[in-house]
Amino acid sequence: MALRRAAPVVREPVTLPSVMSVAELAESLQTTGIEVIKELMKLGIMANLNQQVDYDTAARVATALGWETNEQPNDVARQAAADFESRRSEAETDPNAQARPPVVTIMGHVDHGKTKLLDAIRSANVAEVEAGGITQHIGAYQVETQGRKITFLDTPGHEAFTAMRARGAQATDVAVLVVAADDGVMPTTREAVAHIKSANVPMVVAVNKIDLASANPDRVKQQLSEIEVVPEEWGGDVPFVEVSARDKLGLDDLEEVILLVADVHELKANPHKPANGVVIEAKVDRTRGPVATVLVQSGTLNLRDVVVAGSTWGRIKAMFDDRGRRVRRAEPSFPVEILGLLEVPQAGDTFQVFEDEKIARQLVEERQAHRRAEALVGDRPVKLTDLYNQVQEGTTAELRVILKADVQGSLGAIQNALLRLNEDTDQGVRLSIQFAGTGAVTESDVSLASATRSIIIGFNVRPDVAAKRAADAAGVDIRFYNIIYNLIDEVKAAMTGLLAPVFQDVTDGYAEVRNTFRLPSGDVVAGLYVLDGKITRNSKARVLRSGTVVHEGGIRSLKRFKDDVREVAAGYECGLGLDGFNDLQVSDQIEFYHREEVARS
Ligand code: GDP
Repeated sequence: MALRRAAPVVREPVTLPSVMSVAELAESLQTTGIEVIKELMKLGIMANLNQQVDYDTAARVATALGWETNEQPNDVARQAAADFESRRSEAETDPNAQARPPVVTIMGHVDHGKTKLLDAIRSANVAEVEAGGITQHIGAYQVETQGRKITFLDTPGHEAFTAMRARGAQATDVAVLVVAADDGVMPTTREAVAHIKSANVPMVVAVNKIDLASANPDRVKQQLSEIEVVPEEWGGDVPFVEVSARDKLGLDDLEEVILLVADVHELKANPHKPANGVVIEAKVDRTRGPVATVLVQSGTLNLRDVVVAGSTWGRIKAMFDDRGRRVRRAEPSFPVEILGLLEVPQAGDTFQVFEDEKIARQLVEERQAHRRAEALVGDRPVKLTDLYNQVQEGTTAELRVILKADVQGSLGAIQNALLRLNEDTDQGVRLSIQFAGTGAVTESDVSLASATRSIIIGFNVRPDVAAKRAADAAGVDIRFYNIIYNLIDEVKAAMTGLLAPVFQDVTDGYAEVRNTFRLPSGDVVAGLYVLDGKITRNSKARVLRSGTVVHEGGIRSLKRFKDDVREVAAGYECGLGLDGFNDLQVSDQIEFYHREEVARS
């Protein structure tokens, strides 16, 4: 009887979705969850069966297990992205496109009058408004001048602008650069110019504080010309307007110039379709739940529309304008506060309306899974002191915070004080509160912190045991305070790059050299006796000879008999080789230590 040989396995490539659980991956690869988890561990990823992995990670596991892979086209997400792009480019060719108000962002150096100017423009236009029109700060407002509208984003400074660009959103049509006439061009002025230019946004310069005797508008023009912001009157292409936010001078001129610039750029959008746009700001309101201010960029947003914003969605329950009035619809360039989202989106997230709630939900699930997978794969946890490095490097950072406090009263006060730091510090670090609640820090806070790369701040609360364990395992930074001032002060220090991490050496153990050997390679190893504590493979060694340090460095080898070992305890002998040091001598004492970041008191 002929022997039957197993046919060589010719496997079809396996098609994997953009995100899947470990269990699903195992099933696709016709293997066990344990095998997949083992492969993930080789990639440095600790996962359980229910955790999500992204396609790239899954593909590496698959390859290791002998599979070729294809990525499953992600239809919904792709469709949504394509929709968004086409809605945008349509504006130019769309026969239904109509002129829309320009959206203006005010930028400039701290104290040059951005806030005052925004307030002045607003109050000048809202003065004779009907009773009940109380101004609300929702992150943007609209004014009417010469029968036309202008929308101002009222988070001054370029952090918001940059954050939006980082997410691929562009809300601003015209940037107003405020320069104080007495102070001239300052570092943040230059930064703002760089941001505006790189975003290709038309610029108007408002030379402010011309009421002051020390005002010198010509010097401002001169200084700006030097960085290629040349006034029209000097042959350049940037309109300059002299204003006084304090005395409300030149505001009409500024508005007129903004409208002229807008006309040149023929800003248009089609209001006759489902809306899309961008989230200007968002927060959790204690009584109303997630609240977001959105700017409609095209289409019309209606009450009861199903909206996807970033990785959350909801049906609009209520909309308010910048005077707190209920509105039923919002047309292009109109900023509105919306209620009804299930979670808080992030500033700069784009939003879009879907006719089908199922598609909205599916899209959000995919985006959330993606976010979880991204959080799982690779990234190390965030520490408050990490901001120190980011600020030193000048990279824009976001500090995400999960806040837990003992009572509602202190929670609200701390929340407000923390958010105010965004205005008080001008360092490119933005603080955002991912979640705020009362009660002990729990395991679920820790997992949220880990997934969103946040730190946890506890006020007058402590973690429960499970949370403490989870935080230690995930390396989540939890800081506890019982004085609000200390809390705010430390976060502020971190945001301004002043909170450098503090390290200290922690001694692991002491040992003494009993004898030495030279290996054939020339390296010297010493026979040690551990006097106290222990030596671990990762310890650093400090060699002391007659009381002076003759060498400091890492361990090359640590052996007991012939075997490499991870640690050796007091009372045992071992063999030790040091990195880059071959001069160990009998009766040298060696201190073993590691460096640890210490919490501040
Ligand atoms: P921001 O940091 O750029 O938002 O600046 P603020 O709007 O907070 O203004 C900084 C300081 O300059 C405040 O004390 C304002 O009262 C003052 N200020 C703003 N605009 C004017 C102005 O047109 N004239 C004068 N004299 N002072 C102004």
